Amino acid sequence: MDEEPKHAACYFLPKLVALTAKEFSLMPFNQRIISISQSESMTVTTTTWNAIAKELDGIEIITDPNQLTKLSLDYYHFSPILQGQLQDKRGNLVVRPASEAEVIQIARTCVKHQVPLTVRGAGTGNYGQCIPLEGGVILDTTRMERIRWLKPGMSCVEPGVKMAAFDKQAREIGWELRMAPSTYRTATIGGFIGGGSVGMGSITYGQLKDRGNLGTVRLVTMEEEPQIIQLRGDDVQKVIHGYGTTGIITELEIPLAPAYPWMEIIVVFDDFMTAAQFGQVLSDSDGLVKKLVSIHAAPISSYFVGLKNHLLQGKHAALLMISEYDFEPFQNLVREYNGEITYCKTAQEAAKKTSLLEFTWNHTTLHARSADPSLTYLQTFYFTLERVEQMYRHFGDEVTIHLEFLRANGKAVPAGLQLVRYTTPERLNEIIQYHEEQGAFIANPHVYTIEDGGNKQIDRDKLQFKQKVDPYGLLNPGKMRGFGSYFTPL
Ligand SMILES: Cc1cc2nc3c(=O)[nH]c(=O)nc-3n(C[C@H](O)[C@H](O)[C@H](O)COP(=O)(O)OP(=O)(O)OC[C@H]3O[C@@H](n4cnc5c(N)ncnc54)[C@H](O)[C@@H]3O)c2cc1C
Repeated sequence: MDEEPKHAACYFLPKLVALTAKEFSLMPFNQRIISISQSESMTVTTTTWNAIAKELDGIEIITDPNQLTKLSLDYYHFSPILQGQLQDKRGNLVVRPASEAEVIQIARTCVKHQVPLTVRGAGTGNYGQCIPLEGGVILDTTRMERIRWLKPGMSCVEPGVKMAAFDKQAREIGWELRMAPSTYRTATIGGFIGGGSVGMGSITYGQLKDRGNLGTVRLVTMEEEPQIIQLRGDDVQKVIHGYGTTGIITELEIPLAPAYPWMEIIVVFDDFMTAAQFGQVLSDSDGLVKKLVSIHAAPISSYFVGLKNHLLQGKHAALLMISEYDFEPFQNLVREYNGEITYCKTAQEAAKKTSLLEFTWNHTTLHARSADPSLTYLQTFYFTLERVEQMYRHFGDEVTIHLEFLRANGKAVPAGLQLVRYTTPERLNEIIQYHEEQGAFIANPHVYTIEDGGNKQIDRDKLQFKQKVDPYGLLNPGKMRGFGSYFTPL
C-alpha cells in the first residue's frame, strides 16, 4: 500500500501532526480533542461546541437536553441486548438544515473541528442506526422535505420527505412508492434508504437493495471542502442500508409503482400451517394483485387490541392488502383454504381507519411488546414452508411465528419477524444458531454494526467508498465495523 499523506489532526492535535489519516481516523473522538492539552480539555470541549454553534449561525440548532435525548435515540429498545449498550448514548448538538447548502456548511464545520456527525431521519430504526455512539452533531433531515418533481413512474425528493405524505401526492397521478415500512406514516424516504430494507409492496418489488428499486442518489461528502456526488446504477448500493456512514444524502430519484385501490382484509384459520400455506399460494398467485401478505400464529393477534372484534381467540390470522379489482377471485382462494374473512374494508373505508399495515412487519413486535415487554424478535429468511413448520414445532411458544411474504430472486418466500420470549443473551444466541444450522438466514437485530446484522461480511465497495467520502471516519462512527479494520487484510 502507498504511504499515506501525513495530513490529519491539523485542527486539534498540534503536537501530533505526524499522525497519518489512518491513525487519526482510528482514534476515539474524545482523545482527538483532549490531546490538545490535558489540563484544558474541558474548556476546549466547551469552546469547541460554542465555536461550532457560531459557525452554524443561521441553521436551526437544538441544545435543549430533553430534545437532545429524544433526538439521539431510536427504537433500539426492541432489543434487550441493544438496550444495555445504547441507552446512554447522546449527541452534543442537533442541527436541522433546510437545504443542501446548509448540509455542506455543517459537514465543513464538523470536519474542521473533527467532530462526529450522525444523520437522522424520523429516528424509527430498530438497531440504533441513528444513535451517535461517540456523541457529536446530529443532522436531522426533517426540514428537507421538498418533492422536487413527480411524474408517472419516477420522482425526485429530498431525504426528509415522509413516505405517507409522499404517497398522498403521488396517488393524485396514479402512482405510489414501490415499498414502504410499517412506519410509513412517520419514516422519511432518506431514512428508509439509509436504514430500512423491506415492507408493504415487497411481495411484488422485493427488497430495497434489489437492482432498480432506487434510481439516483445525490450526497455530500465529509471532506475539508465537502463535495457533491451523484450515484446511479449499481453505485447506489454504496448508500443503501449504509447507516449514513457513506455520505449525507440530499436528494434521491425513486422509481414508483402503479397505485391500486388496496382493500384491507383479515382472514382467520384454525390451523397455523394452513394459514402459512394460504399465504404462500396467495403470494404465488400472479393474477392476484397484492401489497401485503402477513401471517400471524396464535396468540399474536391477541396483542392487537385495536382489532380485537375481528380476531378470534386461538385462531391464526392473515392480514392482507389486495387490489379491489381482484376481490372475487381472492374469495375463491379463501374458500379453498377454509379461511374465514373477519375484516374487509374497501380502500376508501380503510383510509378512514388505522391501516392493517400498522399491525404487520415490525409493528407486530411493537404491539406484542406493549402487552408483554419480555418479548423481543428475530428477522429470518426461512426460504421454505417446511423450515417454517420445523421451527414452529421445535420452539413451541418460546418463538411464536410471524411471517411476512416477500419476493426474493423472483420467488415469493416466507420471511419471519418471529416473537421470541427473551430469557438470556446465551439462549437468544442458541436460538439464532439453531435457525442457522437448519439453513435459515438470520439478519440479527440485536447488533448495531452494518456487518454484524444482515451483511455478515465487510462490503468492500461500501468501505472503499467511505474511505473516499469520509476519510476521517466522522460519519456515524462505530457503525461500519470494516472501517476500523480497513488497514488489516480483510
Ligand atoms: C414499529 C416499527 C416498525 C418497523 N417496520 C419496518 C419495516 O416494515 N421495514 C423496514 O425496513 N424497517 C422497519 N422499521 C425500521 C424503520 O422504521 C425503517 O427502516 C424506516 O424507514 C427508517 O426511517 P427513518 O426516517 O426513521 O430513519 P432513521 O431511523 O432516522 O435513520 C435510519 C438510518 O438512515 C440514516 N440516514 C437517515 N437519513 C439519511 C440521509 N439523508 N443520508 C444518509 N443517511 C441517512 C441514519 O443515519 C440511520 O443510520 C420499523 C421500525 C419500527 C419501530
